[in-house]
Amino acid sequence: MKIDDRVKQFLGIEHYSSYVEDYFELSNVRSSIYLSCVIILLELWMIISAVVRHLTGSSRRTPEWLFKHLTSYVVLLAAGLIMLIYALLYIKNKKKVKKAGGIIYALFSVIAIGFGIYISYLDYVKGEQFITLITMSISVFCFIIWRPIHTISFLTVAFLVFVSICHKVIPASYATKVNLFIIWIALLMSAISAYHQKIKEAHKDERLEANNNLLLKLSISDEVTGISNMTYFRGQIIELLKNKKIDFTKKIFLFLDIEHFKYYNDKYGFWEGNNFLKNFAQLVEKTFSGSIVAHFSNDNFVIFTDDDGIQEKLDVLRKEIVNPDFEIKMSLKTGAYRPESRDCLPVIACDHARYACYSIKKHYDHDYCEYDSSMAKDFYRKQYIINNLDVAIENEYIKVYYQPVIDAASGNLCGAEALARWNDPTYGFLSPADFIETLEEYHMIHKLDMFVVRRVCRDLAEAKEKHNRIVPVSLNFSRLDFEYIDLAQEVEKNVSEHKIDKGCIHVEITESALTENNEGLQTSLRELRSSGHSLWLDDFGSGYSGLNILKEYDFDMMKIDMKFLSNFDSNEKAKTLLKNIVILAKELGMKTLSEGVETEEAREFLKSIGCEHMQGYLFGRPMPVEELVAKIQSGVYHIA
Ligand code: C2E
Ligand code: MG
Ligand code: MG
Repeated sequence: MKIDDRVKQFLGIEHYSSYVEDYFELSNVRSSIYLSCVIILLELWMIISAVVRHLTGSSRRTPEWLFKHLTSYVVLLAAGLIMLIYALLYIKNKKKVKKAGGIIYALFSVIAIGFGIYISYLDYVKGEQFITLITMSISVFCFIIWRPIHTISFLTVAFLVFVSICHKVIPASYATKVNLFIIWIALLMSAISAYHQKIKEAHKDERLEANNNLLLKLSISDEVTGISNMTYFRGQIIELLKNKKIDFTKKIFLFLDIEHFKYYNDKYGFWEGNNFLKNFAQLVEKTFSGSIVAHFSNDNFVIFTDDDGIQEKLDVLRKEIVNPDFEIKMSLKTGAYRPESRDCLPVIACDHARYACYSIKKHYDHDYCEYDSSMAKDFYRKQYIINNLDVAIENEYIKVYYQPVIDAASGNLCGAEALARWNDPTYGFLSPADFIETLEEYHMIHKLDMFVVRRVCRDLAEAKEKHNRIVPVSLNFSRLDFEYIDLAQEVEKNVSEHKIDKGCIHVEITESALTENNEGLQTSLRELRSSGHSLWLDDFGSGYSGLNILKEYDFDMMKIDMKFLSNFDSNEKAKTLLKNIVILAKELGMKTLSEGVETEEAREFLKSIGCEHMQGYLFGRPMPVEELVAKIQSGVYHIA
């Protein structure tokens, strides 16, 4: 630090932050309460004792003396009272009276020092010690904190005035001058040292406070968007709902989801993506001002707000998201949940609102949905599924059923599809459509699929051990399996453990799982295929992906979706489509299997167009392994 900065610092010629200013003010207010109380009591006592002594005649003074002294006592008493009133008002309501502080301290100090000079002068003239000036100086400069520059000027002037008045009446002796000088120095040193002590403490406290604020901010705010995080959100709502004055029936939880934000991130990168989220978060806070808003995760936000004008506010947000200038077309979906009681837990409420939001995810004509009782049932079923999957696998509530696959030409059994069935002792029968979708949604599907792999391998191994003839089994896999486990390696492990021929395990992957340019998935599928597994394209034509995927992936079998057979009799176009799909598959080097064959007519037709394999209720529903084995043994199914 430069010398002149040090000097400035020593003299207190520096700018104070508002924190330091408040710190000094509060410290002065506290000291001034003690100081003014002492002054008030002292002056009252002086006034009363002077009057009593005058009246009782024990120390009779002239009326002029009494008047002069009483006036000075009263003036000091009044100054003390004013300072006390200010201090009390400041403590009650800081901001409003703060500006008056400087004037009041200055006024009190001038009066107190003036009083000190006056009384000490009278004492000096009488040949007594000038104690009053010293006590008043201590009170003013050591109790109240002044900038050193002010202390030096004010105290020096006070002492010079005192010396010069006294000197005029009775010239001061050398000893008196030295005494006064020493007192002046001592007072200055005490006052300046008190100031430096205080400013050090103030700075230290300021730093601590800043650190505390930073930590508090970090603990309550979200790193990406800067708005509240979920911990703070939950705490705020619990506090708010405790307040009986708040009508919870007029409140609502909103869960916002920016659809296709992922693509925005992919195109512009994380940095831009985060910027977008930050700006959007600020817009949400602004639009829903007075509400509790937080960043839930990724592209999701939650709001606890009044159930009033919500759609208008959401429209403001939608305008921001659905921007024709963006190349990526995003949209905003909102789920809502109305709290049913004051004890409603924010975590559950957000979960319900999220659930409502996700229920309209694939509905392009819906952008707002409220959680209702039918959803509640759905929600609890999903919760049941995800919470009980492990138990169901362990206790074999989930079983693997096999549906026969028939060779069209011979009518012989040429394979089976493994399909999971969950018959729960508590919940009853759970439809695969339900639990598979839920397990995919919660990214737990690989657990089920690996169970199916283990079970199929075990069933095949057992059949081999018993010298039963076996047929290849096709297994359904989810796109997510490839993301969460090394599927090729896991399948390999099970297959080699049970010494099963790889040709006996076919891999089915549904068309909807396939997207263009998915290098990772393509590599994994290629790996499985080259290691000896037959790769089947499931549900072809169910409508999710275009024909382009046929260019990028290599399959051995195309399973034609059962939709084509649904109104097969009455729809000539369905026949034309089927015929051409079979031709297309053949030209691309794939065999075909038609799903959902339920009638003889369908079977005949499929056979006539050259579809090699069939599967459907006409040949058999999915059944337990024992039933399939029994049917093979009893000759219901012939193995080619
Ligand atoms: P998918 O792979 O297309 O399986 C064929 C579905 O059609 C099965 O339904 C089967 O019972 C049904 N089905 C078969 N023949 C007929 C028929 O003639 N008429 C009618 N109407 N339906 C028929 P399921 O078992 O309900 O399975 C539904 C879907 O769930 C399956 O479709 C498959 O995608 C999936 N899935 C089943 N088990 C698993 C599994 O273990 N893992 C995975 N990832 N998905 C599975
Ligand atoms: Mg399948
Ligand atoms: Mg299928």
